[in-house]
Amino acid sequence: GRHLLEVRNLRVSFDTYGGTVQAVRDVSFHLDEGECLAIVGESGCGKSVTAMALLKLIATPPGKMTGSILFRGDELVGRSEKAMNRIRGREIGMIFQDPMTSLNPTMSIGRQIEEVIAEHDALPRGERRRRALDVLGLVGIPEAERRYGQYPHAFSGGMRQRVLIAMAIACRPALLIADEPTTALDVTIQAQILDIIGALQKELAMTLLLITHDLGVVAKMADRIAVFYAGQIVERGSSEALFRRPAHPYTQALLASIPRIDATRADRLSSIEGTPPDLFRPPIGCAFFPRCTRAMKVCATMPPPSFSVGEGQQASCWLHAMVGGNVGAAERVTG
Ligand code: SF4
Ligand code: MG
Repeated sequence: GRHLLEVRNLRVSFDTYGGTVQAVRDVSFHLDEGECLAIVGESGCGKSVTAMALLKLIATPPGKMTGSILFRGDELVGRSEKAMNRIRGREIGMIFQDPMTSLNPTMSIGRQIEEVIAEHDALPRGERRRRALDVLGLVGIPEAERRYGQYPHAFSGGMRQRVLIAMAIACRPALLIADEPTTALDVTIQAQILDIIGALQKELAMTLLLITHDLGVVAKMADRIAVFYAGQIVERGSSEALFRRPAHPYTQALLASIPRIDATRADRLSSIEGTPPDLFRPPIGCAFFPRCTRAMKVCATMPPPSFSVGEGQQASCWLHAMVGGNVGAAERVTG
């Protein structure tokens, strides 16, 4: 059937004085109604730019965007700003990383939620207020009536993130994009916010695009995962498959760097050596080549195509061009 969202051959670049940065390099993925897709990768891999591109929040120029973004079968690329404003917030909601900068410090949180509602729905004041109180309840803000008239500074970081989630869901969007929704928060608060997002996804039957640098946070929530590296998807598959048998050396390294709850010593954590490539001049071969411990000669000169490595699982890595080349390696890394 038709996907709720289908992204095909998305490319985003930015012209700068230093040259053109190719931030997103031919990315395709889809989201079906009700599922959660996680986009995972290090900072600068193009995951936030992809999210902004979905809502056409890329300023052009200096940005340039090509490809296709189908939402409910309708093309978003080329839509007017006015048409996009009807979609943003109403059809597609978005939560960003930093709740401090996203809220207006001079307006009560109740008013801010009401404004979002008023942008999309012509409701009488009382009705708007009722709906705003309703979403504050949904995100678990206690004593919503009392807190309604308070300003952002009266809320903790976690509570502010709840207010932003309330704003994002106030118009009941079909798709919620959450870009690093917990990165700025304490570990214990992070878990609460993820639980709220997960519960809301089910309760409101929303589709969720969860963007994070932390593979650990998506284990419970994501149905499928797309691993981004240097502006491309290097591996994709069900959450289960990627955790059980990651096929791309980068995914394997990401998994190995997740802090374990049962770790007794910090030195058990490993991190990935090296840095991602310069996207002013993307490499001609595999972008992970300089950091890959399993690199071969071919990797330096030929970009690896996407190989099927399991049901619904694909990895862009030359290791999988060789029959049976991956099984032992995947076990070694994860076992
Ligand atoms: Fe490593 Fe080569 Fe696979 Fe790239 S294609 S991840 S360099 S083995
Ligand atoms: Mg980001």
